[in-house]
Amino acid sequence: MTTSTLGPHEAHVTSEHHGRAFPPSPLAETDLDAAIIGAGPYGLSAAAHLKAAGLKVGIFGRPMDFWASKMPAGMLLRSPRVASNIAEPSRNFSLAAFETTAGLPPRAPVPLETFVAYGHWFQRQLLPNLDAREVASVEHLGPGFRLVLEDGEPIRCKRLVVAAGIGPFQRIPSLFTSLPGSQVQHCYSGCDVKSLSKKRVVVIGAGQSALECAALLHEVGSDVEIIARIPALRWIGQHPVLHNLGPISSLLYSPHDVGPAGISRLVAAPNLVMRIPLKLRDRIRTRAVRPAGSKWLPARLEKVKITTGRSVTSAHSEHGGVRLRLDDGTERSTDHVLLGTGYSVDISRYSFWSEQLLQQIATIDGYPALQTGFESSVSGLHFIGATAARCYGPLLYFVAGTDFASRELTSKIVKRGVRSFA
Ligand SMILES: Cc1cc2nc3c(=O)[nH]c(=O)nc-3n(C[C@H](O)[C@H](O)[C@H](O)COP(=O)(O)OP(=O)(O)OC[C@H]3O[C@@H](n4cnc5c(N)ncnc54)[C@H](O)[C@@H]3O)c2cc1C
Repeated sequence: MTTSTLGPHEAHVTSEHHGRAFPPSPLAETDLDAAIIGAGPYGLSAAAHLKAAGLKVGIFGRPMDFWASKMPAGMLLRSPRVASNIAEPSRNFSLAAFETTAGLPPRAPVPLETFVAYGHWFQRQLLPNLDAREVASVEHLGPGFRLVLEDGEPIRCKRLVVAAGIGPFQRIPSLFTSLPGSQVQHCYSGCDVKSLSKKRVVVIGAGQSALECAALLHEVGSDVEIIARIPALRWIGQHPVLHNLGPISSLLYSPHDVGPAGISRLVAAPNLVMRIPLKLRDRIRTRAVRPAGSKWLPARLEKVKITTGRSVTSAHSEHGGVRLRLDDGTERSTDHVLLGTGYSVDISRYSFWSEQLLQQIATIDGYPALQTGFESSVSGLHFIGATAARCYGPLLYFVAGTDFASRELTSKIVKRGVRSFA
């Protein structure tokens, strides 16, 4: 086994051309031990761990693309600094190490641009041969997988790690689907807040994305109203006393700060969460990530109109704008609607699956059913990041979960993985 990742020009190119029949097995010496789809925090972290373990690993996709192109400019990270490190085995490539190298002062909350630059630096330092091409299709070969990249180049791998994020999972309530994209947009689709300055914007939702977008819009001069179903907005860290009890606080909250007192500690142990019956696990998960805004948001929203306890019942395009009707019978006229309505994991929405492979993957309501080492019902196929949160708990929705996920994945692959394909 060699210890290198493959770059665009080094990638293993077979003699077969895209579209021609591909021999199913055995896998060749030169194939990748593991390929990773997606170069966000989870993909980068997993690649760094697998590479350090001596595997021949390839990582595909534009680094940090979701953060760089889908999050609103000016955004601040909700996660604390200690929970915003992309994990790798040496622990020399932390956010703080990047800031020192780049001559940036440590800031909390962490600005989006700093986090994106940190991810790019992490990639250049540890995975210089990353292949920025997207994976267009994936096929199961029996043992192993065949990927086809966006330009038609085929790649074969023994194990496949899907770290493709939540991009395709936006939840768009049906009453908005008939409106044009120029009038309605999801918060996770790269909202350019500056283009909406001086416009009337209704933001729907009560989570961090909705509330932060509303604050950013207000600050660029938009006329904003937030409409939320819950009776009152919630803020993270509503119980400062519990956070300031010294060692007692450490018993109640993990440094990742995902979830309320007590649950926060449980969430930090995904191997334990995995053993909890699904029904209870689901309750823990939804409680830990219920809609709430960071404690630094209320001051920024003081002058923003907020309507809670109401939902939108109809939405129509009218005179170049949008007319909304609420369940109390009142109406709103607005230029633009921004949906902070979250996302629903459904792995069938990844466009790269072959029909045959997709049918082989056991799922629980759209999430892959996973065993130890993040392995799905298809031998050698792993999922990390938000798609693993149904099995391993809500830590997997956040960057803080990269440490557990990468160690667990690498340990499984190194102990049992590649050998079984030899
Ligand atoms: C508005 C917002 C704010 C957030 N704030 C925080 C925060 O403060 N702290 C925190 O911990 N988490 C935060 N999150 C959650 C955050 O999305 C995850 O923590 C993190 O992005 C997970 O990393 P990932 O690598 O799984 O996914 P991503 O970062 O989404 O990376 C997946 C990558 O895969 C790529 N990809 C998809 N398909 C392919 C393909 N076929 N070929 C190649 N590449 C592909 C995508 O383009 C993407 O770049 C936030 C999320 C949102 C939407």
